[in-house]
Amino acid sequence: MSFTLAIVGRPNVGKSTLFNRLVGKRLALVDDQPGVTRDLREGAARLGHLKFTVIDTAGLEEATDESLQGRMRKLTERAVDMADVCLFVIDARAGVTASDHVFAEILRRRSAHVILAANKAEGRAGEAGLLEAYELGLGEPVRLSAEHGEGMSDLAAVLDPIAERF
Ligand code: GDP
Ligand code: MG
Repeated sequence: MSFTLAIVGRPNVGKSTLFNRLVGKRLALVDDQPGVTRDLREGAARLGHLKFTVIDTAGLEEATDESLQGRMRKLTERAVDMADVCLFVIDARAGVTASDHVFAEILRRRSAHVILAANKAEGRAGEAGLLEAYELGLGEPVRLSAEHGEGMSDLAAVLDPIAERF
């Protein structure tokens, strides 16, 4: 049996970087400019002994324009509905933002399984952000560095018991 994991969160937190690391091919576009990836992307992921489908959600630019924000919400909701598990990613260096709270609310309403991840936490850079993440009320955050490949075994350990249900 297998399951589908959707990587969700606001633009520029490192969703596509994590997707690429899980899929092992550069299927998703990563760019220094936030908002380059504009669609949902699906790939076959491997993490330790786990095999699953992973969805990378759109990284639309932090929208000032209502329709873009609406589209980001819609795409996130679509990904959540396709997925068995959601990995909600925040930027540990930036800390918890207002947009993060919006995403947390969407996930609380729509997703049965949410795993919180604090990315960009390589070295000691993300320590404050990691602590702040608890305020989202989604449990203990997994400390990640998608770029440097840190925390991947912790992520596997959190996914493992969930994976057994599918
Ligand atoms: P997305 O918009 O959420 O898909 O974010 P991207 O994956 O496109 O990454 C946005 C930026 O954050 C890029 O410049 C990445 O190189 C950078 N980034 C991603 N993961 C990490 C990480 O673990 N540590 C650091 N320092 N930067 C990261
Ligand atoms: Mg992206």
